[in-house]
Amino acid sequence: MIKTVEQYLESLDDGRQVWCLGEKVTDVRTHPSISTIIRMAAMDYVLPNHPDYRDIFVTQDKDGEDINFLLTSPKTSEDMLRRRECYLVGMRTGGGVLVHCMGADALASFSVAAEVMDKKLGTNYMERVENYRQYLQKNDLALTGAITDVKGDRSLHPSAQKQHKDYYLRIVDKKEDGIVVRGAKVHISASPCANELLCLPCRTMGEADRDYAVAFAVPVNTPGVKLLAVEPNVRLYGEECEFDNPESDHLQPSESLVIFDDVFVPWERVFMCGEWQHSQSLVYAFASYHRLFGTCKMTRQLELMTGAAKLIAEYNGVDRIPHVRKKLAWMAYVTETVQMLSKQACLEPISEFGMDVMMPNRMAINASKFTYASNFHTMCQHMHDIGGGLTTTVPAYRDWKNKEISPYIEKYLSAKDGVTTEDRLRILRLIKDCTGNHWQVDTIHGEGSMAAQEMFLYGSADWSKLEAAARRAAHMDGWQSDATYGKLLLIKDCVNMPELDESYQGFAPTLKTER
Ligand SMILES: Cc1cc2nc3c(=O)[nH]c(=O)nc-3n(C[C@H](O)[C@H](O)[C@H](O)COP(=O)(O)OP(=O)(O)OC[C@H]3O[C@@H](n4cnc5c(N)ncnc54)[C@H](O)[C@@H]3O)c2cc1C
Repeated sequence: MIKTVEQYLESLDDGRQVWCLGEKVTDVRTHPSISTIIRMAAMDYVLPNHPDYRDIFVTQDKDGEDINFLLTSPKTSEDMLRRRECYLVGMRTGGGVLVHCMGADALASFSVAAEVMDKKLGTNYMERVENYRQYLQKNDLALTGAITDVKGDRSLHPSAQKQHKDYYLRIVDKKEDGIVVRGAKVHISASPCANELLCLPCRTMGEADRDYAVAFAVPVNTPGVKLLAVEPNVRLYGEECEFDNPESDHLQPSESLVIFDDVFVPWERVFMCGEWQHSQSLVYAFASYHRLFGTCKMTRQLELMTGAAKLIAEYNGVDRIPHVRKKLAWMAYVTETVQMLSKQACLEPISEFGMDVMMPNRMAINASKFTYASNFHTMCQHMHDIGGGLTTTVPAYRDWKNKEISPYIEKYLSAKDGVTTEDRLRILRLIKDCTGNHWQVDTIHGEGSMAAQEMFLYGSADWSKLEAAARRAAHMDGWQSDATYGKLLLIKDCVNMPELDESYQGFAPTLKTER
C-alpha cells in the first residue's frame, strides 16, 4: 500500500519513548523542534501520492498492489538509477526520502548478507528478509538505519572493551522465540520520525565478537527502546526560522542516541545472529548503498551552495572579477564531479560475492562521497570569501522586522542596483546557515568518516591495472597479462619505419658526443 500523509502522522502516535532537551516528549508530532523534521519526513508520503512523482516512487508487488519503489531490492543498473532518481528528487524537494534512505539501504544490505549466508551456511535468512520486506511494503512503513555504535575505546574490539561490554550492540540472551539485545546506537538520523529501526553492525567482527554480529529490525515503540534526540540546530520557528536559518528550518537534526535496554527481538525479525564471518558482507553492502543516498543529498547541497555563491557575487557586483569567477568555476566543477561519479556508480553497479542483488560501484561511490567531504570546507571558504564578512554578521529576521532599524538596514545593506536588500539578506542568511557547524560535521562523518572511504578507495582500486600502465610506459615487464593494458597494441610493433630507425642510429652517437 501507499500511505497518505495523515496515516503516516497517525502511525507516530504509538507510545514511543523520546527525550529532547532534557524533557520527555509526549507527542513527537507537536513537539516544537521535532515536529519540524516530522514535517519534512511526511514528504516521503507526499511524493508517491503526487501525480508528478508517482511513476518514480511507486511500483507494484507480485500481487499487483502499489508499493514504494525504495522498499524493493535493486537487481539491475536501471533499478540503481531509479533509486538515485528517487533520492535526488526527494533531496532537491528539501526532504522526501528521509524515512526511506538509511532504512531502505539497511534493508537492501540485509538481502545481500542473507543471500551470502544462505548459500554458504544453509541458513534461511533470505526468506526472513523477504517476509519482512513484504510486511514493510504492505504497511508502507517509515524506516531508519541504526548502524553506528557508541564504540567506547576505538582502539579496542567490541569484546575487548574495558569499562563494560555494551559499547557495541550485542546479543545478551537467546530464547526459544527470539533474542534479547543490549547496547546503544548513536547519531541515528530520522529516528523520531520512523516506524522501524533496522540495526546492523558498524564494523566487521572477529570470532571473539560473535555476539556483536547481530542484525535485526524492531518497531520504534518496542519496550526498552529509548531515543535521546539531539538538540535542534536552531530554536526558532515559522517565518523567523525560514528567514534566519533557511536550510536548518526544515533540516533540523533528527539524530538520536538510541538505547536498547534489553530489547526482545522475535526470530522472524533477526537477520544475522552470530555469523561474524559474514559481518563484512553486511557492513560493506550497507556502506555502498548508503553512500549512494549520501551523494544525492550532497548533490542538492552543492547545487544550492554553488548557486548561492553565484548570486551573492552578482548581488555584490563582483561576479566578473577573475578570482571570483575562478572560484565559482571550481565550485561548479566539484558539484558536477560528485553527481557524475554518483551516476557512474549506478551505471556500472557490482554484484559482489556472485549474488543477484546489485550494489553501487564501490570505487565510484566512495570517490563521489570523498570528493564532497574533502572539498566541502573549501566550498564554505569560497562562499565566505566571495560573500564577505556579512556571511556571518548579517542581521537577523527580528532586526529586519523592527520598524525603527529596518530603514537603515534597507539603505546601508543594499548593494547592486536592481537587487532588493531583502534578497541579499536572504542569500547571506542561507550562506551563514549552510556553512554552520552542523553541516561541517555532517559532511565529514555522515555516511561514514573519510578514513572509511579511503579504506574502500584503496581496497577497490584496480592496482594491477594501474601498475601495468606504469610498467608498460616505463618499458618494464609485468604488464603483458593485464586485462586492459596487456592487449593494447604497441606502436613499435605496428608501425614499421626502417628509415626512421636508421636515422635514430645515426642520431644516438651525436647525442653522446654533445653530452
Ligand atoms: C549528522 C549525522 C548523521 C548521521 N546519521 C546516521 C544514521 O542515520 N545512522 C547511523 O548508523 N549513523 C549515522 N551517523 C554516524 C556516522 O556514520 C558516524 O559519525 C561516522 O561513521 C563516524 O563515527 P563516529 O562519529 O563514532 O566517530 P569516530 O569513529 O570516533 O571517528 C573519529 C575519527 O577516528 C577515526 N577512527 C575511529 N576508529 C578508528 C579505528 N579503529 N581505526 C582507525 N581510525 C579510527 C575515524 O576514521 C575518524 O577519523 C551520522 C553522523 C552524523 C554526523
